[in-house]
Amino acid sequence: MRLERHKYKYIFGPVPSRRLGMSLGVDIVPLKTCTQNCVYCELGVNSITTMQRKAYVPMTEVMAELKETLKTIDRLDYITITGSGEPTLNSEIGLFIDNIRQTSKTPIAILTNGTLFSDPAVRADCAKADVLLPSLDAYDQNSFNSINKPHSELEFDRFVAGLIQMRREFIGQYWLEVFLLDGYNTEPHQIEQLKAIIDRIAPDKIQLNTAVRPAAQKDIKAVSSEKLLWAAEQLGTKAEVIVAAVKKHNISAVEVQSDKLLAVLKRRPCTVDDLCIALQTDREKIMDVLERLEQLNLVRSETTQAGKFFMAG
Ligand code: SF4
Repeated sequence: MRLERHKYKYIFGPVPSRRLGMSLGVDIVPLKTCTQNCVYCELGVNSITTMQRKAYVPMTEVMAELKETLKTIDRLDYITITGSGEPTLNSEIGLFIDNIRQTSKTPIAILTNGTLFSDPAVRADCAKADVLLPSLDAYDQNSFNSINKPHSELEFDRFVAGLIQMRREFIGQYWLEVFLLDGYNTEPHQIEQLKAIIDRIAPDKIQLNTAVRPAAQKDIKAVSSEKLLWAAEQLGTKAEVIVAAVKKHNISAVEVQSDKLLAVLKRRPCTVDDLCIALQTDREKIMDVLERLEQLNLVRSETTQAGKFFMAG
């Protein structure tokens, strides 16, 4: 099998997102460029965090890739600014949104850890999106340190104040993700403290997630569905448990291109079902290509409570 280099460096997908349906990712920071180093991160371990905002990637190249990709896509729910780290670290994120809007009418979402929302310039940039999906997993400075391992300049109270201020200023949808991990934030008193903070933030949705994919720290385990449902009940009517990736799209048995499959796996670990949806094909064809890529040591797999996940490298 001849392997082509990944055609695109900054655009990936569309991939099935548990929160956004079919989402086309625009990656505007290099791998694991982040203000935090979360224990559950799917991008692997990285002890270096940064607070430096700058133009991390070339705008013209990213936009050229996006325009090319959009020509080949029939159906898309969101263009999502996200990827290999914290996208608000890119000082041109506002300009990216302006340029994407000139290219496509598809709604724009930003997946962010929200740690830079205390900066008015970041809030002004992010206010241009249609949906913001920030995160909150901790309930005080200690839990912030142990779950999210933030940059030394980040203080929990200031982070929460930024989440609240962004909510006040933003007219679009604000969906707060809470990542629950046994041993970190699932005890009744911890959920109670989280609820008090979330009530102050007042998001449109509270989306509960857990470590279903292989995490940076190997001892991280997924919370049971029962516990997730219990936590959702405690957090009120806006809370929902994020279920497995959308499976409603029609799948046709098209040929699988190994470079496309590798591009998806480079961004996130996927099950065979995830790959079937992302690449619009059937299990047999996916399995066939995965097997060959594993033999070439280009793909490896890891089994968690949620099933077998494949990842690049
Ligand atoms: S905020 Fe996201 S990218 Fe950054 S370390 Fe946490 S999970 Fe990884």
